[in-house]
Amino acid sequence: MSDGQDCDVIVVGAGFAGLYMLYRLRRAGFRTRVFEAGSGVGGTWYWNRYPGARCDVESMEYSYSFSDELQQDWEWTERYAGQPEILRYANHVADRFGLRPDITFDTRVTQAVFDEEGRRWRVTTDTGETVLASFVVMATGCLSSTNLPEFEGRDSFLGETYHTGRWPHGGADFAGRRVGIVGTGSSAIQAIPIIAEEAAHLTVFQRTPNYSIPARNAPIDPAYVREIKAEYREFRARNLRMHAGFGSKVHHNDAPALSDDPAAREANYDARWHHGGFAFLGAYNDLLRSREANETAAEFVRERIRDVVDDPEVAERLCPDNVIGCKRPCLDTGYFETYNRPNVELVDAGERPIERITPQGIVAGGREFDLDCIVFATGFDAMTGAVLGIDIRGRGGKTLKQMWDAGPRTYLGLCTVGFPNLFLITGPGSPSVLTNMIVSIEQHVDWITACLDDLRRTGRATIEATRQAQDDWVDHVNAVAGVTLYPTCNSWYLGKNIPGKPQVFMPLIGFPPYAQKCAEVAADGYQGFDLD
Ligand code: FAD
Ligand code: NAP
Repeated sequence: MSDGQDCDVIVVGAGFAGLYMLYRLRRAGFRTRVFEAGSGVGGTWYWNRYPGARCDVESMEYSYSFSDELQQDWEWTERYAGQPEILRYANHVADRFGLRPDITFDTRVTQAVFDEEGRRWRVTTDTGETVLASFVVMATGCLSSTNLPEFEGRDSFLGETYHTGRWPHGGADFAGRRVGIVGTGSSAIQAIPIIAEEAAHLTVFQRTPNYSIPARNAPIDPAYVREIKAEYREFRARNLRMHAGFGSKVHHNDAPALSDDPAAREANYDARWHHGGFAFLGAYNDLLRSREANETAAEFVRERIRDVVDDPEVAERLCPDNVIGCKRPCLDTGYFETYNRPNVELVDAGERPIERITPQGIVAGGREFDLDCIVFATGFDAMTGAVLGIDIRGRGGKTLKQMWDAGPRTYLGLCTVGFPNLFLITGPGSPSVLTNMIVSIEQHVDWITACLDDLRRTGRATIEATRQAQDDWVDHVNAVAGVTLYPTCNSWYLGKNIPGKPQVFMPLIGFPPYAQKCAEVAADGYQGFDLD
């Protein structure tokens, strides 16, 4: 490493990505500093403390694999861990590996400027600190920059407001209150059943109905834990070969949906519905490629909604008509059942959108709903929001915002032209949000660590993606998405939830070929990168 700098690597963010990055860099001998805007570790699980917040990937899979001792020692209590348990796990990891001394909390990175002559990054924080480093790793999270829509009169509301992604540490007291919740994505679908139990009245403002599959959460089965722990490494290895980096215990049917007759198809969907979780979407191999196939699964779920919801008119309003799975699928515990409660009202804010927020409540479809509390479950400026929230300036003083004006462009989702020595963890153009994210995080962190080690060993000061490699990669990501049904609905994968955001399908579909490509690039001397 060159002199005249404060550390070798600056990592932004102390979620699962930042923690593991710090662990690996330290062990490789790189002087590393981590900056974290929050007061503690855990990222997503530090911020999203809303009632019902829970993982959708099973506990035995949604955890680090890098330390066999850690995965053998840690005991999960439920099939899908809840937010408090995952946060305890993140804190345990930070303490177990002594990571805290290198993390500066309550500090937001506001700017990162590349000094071309000195070949180093100058990183500035909101506490006024400036630090110089050879490399910067953005572990800023794909779902960490909250989306709070600009409803007219939003700040005039006299009651309490909450965003699921910025939940107060002291919790919220809804007992005896009239609560309104805006949104019916994964966060809302988890929160609604629990808020409904506590509140005097809950009004749900639904712009688009969503498919949801029962999670079937339960205390974790000790026999299952023993079985996994007896061969944890092999289990992890099998998961790495799965399309989304998890789910190897579930049968993924490699047949098309229409190859079964309707009765067999129904039985297959039904078995998976009762098993719970994402296994449902593994019922057939063409659910996200053929509209006709997809419609069979979609209609199965609509039928279950009609079974569960007593009022047929409410049931129809809850039935989505888009492609199932082209938005991030939701898992729930008693979501649709909640609409049978007398204190819950569903407002169709699709055809008759929210008009404004008043001091007393929300006006939608010409009617004012009086409320004591509003919960915004309105999601995130996903994949690019947190990175673009930092004023990043690369070669020639060009900002990342300018370079990504028409949508994010990266090579491998790891690096972007004009920004040498800057890495993104689970960046756009990588499988990231379409996988068990801890798997994608570990793969990226391992790749980056090996890359920095190679640069040090070969005396190279900088690494930068070439324009040709980046252009080809962006074309590849689009081509892969283009043969699927993913781009067919208004998802945050496409940036469609944020007014004015360029509409580009951001993640790459398919983990195993991606991981193989990254390994080949490194083995071929960082093909597609300029090394200086
Ligand atoms: P994060 O956990 O988002 O951490 C990023 C950190 O960077 C944050 O703490 C943030 O404060 C910090 N930061 C950002 N910008 C700055 C800055 N400028 N300066 C300083 N600090 C900054 N994934 C799954 O695979 N399975 C699931 O079931 C699942 N459930 C989820 C549930 C919820 C409610 C949400 C929101 C996401 C879920 N995810 C899930 C995705 C989840 O984000 C990832 O699994 C994982 O936690 C991401 O870790 P990360 O470290 O990359 O990002
Ligand atoms: P989301 O999926 O983006 O859902 C946001 C909701 O708010 C949608 O129903 C959206 O409606 C609505 N909305 C947004 N702007 C609106 C507006 N102006 N007016 C009315 N409604 C509006 O956000 P999320 O639920 O927080 O989930 C985000 C992602 O985080 C998930 O997809 C998932 O990846 C992750 N997550 C995971 C879990 C889990 O695994 N357990 C739990 C929570 C979150 P439209 O659909 O019409 O846009």
